[in-house]
Amino acid sequence: MDFFDKAETWDRATIEATQAVRLRATVEQAMKSPFYAERLAQAGATPDAVRDLADLTRIPFTTKDDLRNQYPYGLACVPRSEFVRMHCSSGTTGTPVAICHTQLDLNSWADLMARSLYMAGVRKEDVFQNMSGYGLFTGGLGIHFGAERLGCMTVPAGAGNSRRQLKLMRDFQTTVVHILPSYALHLGATLQKEGEDPRKLPLRIGCVGAEPYTEETRHRIEAMFDIKVYNSYGLSEMNGPGVAFECQAQHGLHVWEDAYVPEIINPETGAPVPDGEIGELVLTTLCRHGMPVLRYRTRDLTRFIPGDCPCGRKHRRIDRILGRSDDMIILKGVNIYPMQVERVLMSYPEVGQNYLITLEREGLKDSMKVQVEIREEHFVEDVRVLRALQENIARRLRDEILVTPKVELVQHNTLPQTEGKAQRVHDRRGQ
Ligand code: ADP
Ligand code: ZN
Repeated sequence: MDFFDKAETWDRATIEATQAVRLRATVEQAMKSPFYAERLAQAGATPDAVRDLADLTRIPFTTKDDLRNQYPYGLACVPRSEFVRMHCSSGTTGTPVAICHTQLDLNSWADLMARSLYMAGVRKEDVFQNMSGYGLFTGGLGIHFGAERLGCMTVPAGAGNSRRQLKLMRDFQTTVVHILPSYALHLGATLQKEGEDPRKLPLRIGCVGAEPYTEETRHRIEAMFDIKVYNSYGLSEMNGPGVAFECQAQHGLHVWEDAYVPEIINPETGAPVPDGEIGELVLTTLCRHGMPVLRYRTRDLTRFIPGDCPCGRKHRRIDRILGRSDDMIILKGVNIYPMQVERVLMSYPEVGQNYLITLEREGLKDSMKVQVEIREEHFVEDVRVLRALQENIARRLRDEILVTPKVELVQHNTLPQTEGKAQRVHDRRGQ
């Protein structure tokens, strides 16, 4: 196996033995913050009680609200002078959470990130363009230091401004990009609109993540640019990107288990789900000194992929994230995930890159409207052809989500487009 870090080659026994040792050290370190000192003492989860991985469940969960309540320094386990940087979550779901890092924390994060990129096939010879927003968001500096650590010539392009992105890509002969899935489709479409072929760029790899997307969307991005797309997962509470990444088998994301303990639980009961079943991902940091976080409920839904990966790494794989538990739409008593809608939409070649789900309430009746951008060349079609397409999409959606949405075909580039994570659902029912 071609690897960047020896830890990638560890067998299960070595991974688990290391986790046990690091978990105990992490609990000890966490107790230096007033928050965990009290929480862990109350639960009887002191370093003496957490001797092994099996004792993990003695530790109470940490929630996003816990972290918000401790903002800004409540979770600090080192003197403030030891911190060298802080980052925040994007605040997609409310008040942000801040994590402060020591130099050691940053070094270990950059190593994890470099290892992730290497696993996806990125090498020192590559020119790496990072199209994430820099600043507080972890996708900027987090990815950046990983690419530099690997030795890539790294272009800190930042988010948006397609014209500038394309100029940089051409001038510096970019071979790898880090990009949001929604933005990748937008960028490709922008090029095509200018009469250019995105496949002619020297690009070969796209590291795509930070928001949920489907296998259909991966195929679209791959075909559009003639590249390989690898899924990148992370969250600021766990540093940021570099928590889990796809290898070249493109079948699930390896969680770096020497640095994190992953669990998948039933979000209602908190109990572990049987292997292979979908539940909420819970993560514990094992290599963080400044602000360790124990059994953090990510609210992200996924499952462990059973069995071994052909690449040889024994770090367990999680499936593509289905969405956040708070993204789940409950409509007429049916549970629906936006990704189910995306999967259907993206299987139509006529459908462009953007869509929007709106939930409305008229009287006591809830309804769902799905607006879909149609590619320019298809929008000029006969009204009857468009109507048939509209009906066909509505029918396929009904089969998938069990309620019949109102489908509206709109011209491309008419739905709102953000520079950051895409907003796919507007819930107007409470208004
Ligand atoms: P926020 O929670 O405010 O968006 P972050 O910037 O820390 O803050 O984003 C982390 C979240 O982004 C994750 O918890 C997850 O919901 C989402 N995310 C990150 N990477 C992926 C990915 N590859 N697939 C799906 N969702 C992802
Ligand atoms: Zn693998």
